[in-house]
Amino acid sequence: MTQQHEFPEGDASPDAWDHIDASGSPGTLVQSLKHFYTAVEHSPMATAITDPSGRLLYVNLRFVDITGYSRDELIGKTCSLIKSGKTSPETYRELWQTLKAGNIWRGEMLNRRKCGEEYWEYEVITPIKDEHDKVISFITVKEDISERKRQEEELRLLATAFETGQATLIANAEMRIERVNQAFVNITGYTADEVVGHTPRMFKSGRHDASFYAGLWQSLTVKGHWQGEIWNRNKRGEIYPVWQSITAVKGESGEVRHYVSVFHNIAERKQVEQALVHEASRDHLTGAANRRAFDRSLITAVRLAEKEGGEFAMMLFDIDHFKAVNDTHGHDVGDAVLFALTDCVQRRLRKTDLLARWGGEEFTLLLSGTPLNGALQLAERLRSDVASAELPGGAITISIGLTLYQPGDTARDLLMRADRALYRAKQGGRNRV
Ligand code: GH3
Ligand code: MG
Ligand code: MG
Repeated sequence: MTQQHEFPEGDASPDAWDHIDASGSPGTLVQSLKHFYTAVEHSPMATAITDPSGRLLYVNLRFVDITGYSRDELIGKTCSLIKSGKTSPETYRELWQTLKAGNIWRGEMLNRRKCGEEYWEYEVITPIKDEHDKVISFITVKEDISERKRQEEELRLLATAFETGQATLIANAEMRIERVNQAFVNITGYTADEVVGHTPRMFKSGRHDASFYAGLWQSLTVKGHWQGEIWNRNKRGEIYPVWQSITAVKGESGEVRHYVSVFHNIAERKQVEQALVHEASRDHLTGAANRRAFDRSLITAVRLAEKEGGEFAMMLFDIDHFKAVNDTHGHDVGDAVLFALTDCVQRRLRKTDLLARWGGEEFTLLLSGTPLNGALQLAERLRSDVASAELPGGAITISIGLTLYQPGDTARDLLMRADRALYRAKQGGRNRV
């Protein structure tokens, strides 16, 4: 790499000589020139001297290094050798205008190395004039800024990803919000100005207890990460569920520098989930609960009564002579009767009561917190409601078996007792409790 190049004579203007020790001693002058030459030759900035037409007279080691061309390939050529062809014509126009006016030009250019690789340079070109103010050469000092450009590009890319991605919040180590993106603004209803400097506590819905947040912090501290479902409150005061992921961003010595939290609204997904659960626990013909859902609720009621000693009643009822309805009016009318009957019974019930289609034209009813006389009264009312209701296939009646929870009962005990009671009601002449 140590190609020798003679320092071009007559390149420096007379002014430049003034800076060199001009004490007259030829030894000192040569010494000074050597220092000067060494400084330029080994400068970390690529340096070139060109004649007024732009032909290269001198290039330093760094210039050779950056461009990949040898000195022999460069000297005598113009800088168009390293042009990428992608720097705008305006840049060149402006460059020559500036230099012709005798001024220093500074700017960025996209050049090409001998190997074909393109690279960005920041250049400072200084015109050197003689005593008649005539430009006799140009000194170009440049720096390869490809790395900086690459980083800028990466930052632009990340900024775009940040703005177009999921709702994101960046907080400092004290959990104070530093930055949020557009998706965040869209979901929460808060603008960046309204949240920056605050902590995410401002989104608390009140739906989670202290142990929930303790678990979140525990995970963040130990694993540096937490994700899960969390209910937040938006600016309008509405509470909504989000799936949130929080990551601690650590510095070189492992200390937390930032927290990055990414989330999306899962209200819609939860609605679908709920609809599916609802679907799975419903009887399709009548819309009442199905047998599975009733079983679950009955078992829960038994457990609760065991634990807390509450009372509850259970009914099993069956349509009298329903076969005749089907036989006379057809199966479709039979189905319509089942639907209408459900509606008729449902009207009498409280929110805490659970009506289920047990199978065929048999229904079960769970009455939580209901003592015997209350349950009996309701049973009588249901019986008479149905008997007097106007139903698709004409009047029908039901027979009802009623039982009360006794300490020690299992769900099965209750069902069996209710079934026996229903059988007795049927035996007793139907349309009775
Ligand atoms: P009773 O209860 O008074 O002893 O007489 P019943 O005629 O109602 O006798 P049972 O309870 O044994 O009758 C069951 C009948 O219910 C058989 C069938 O015709 C009718 N059934 C059961 N499930 C359905 C259904 O999903 N749709 C219709 N349309 N009818 C049904
Ligand atoms: Mg029947
Ligand atoms: Mg039956």
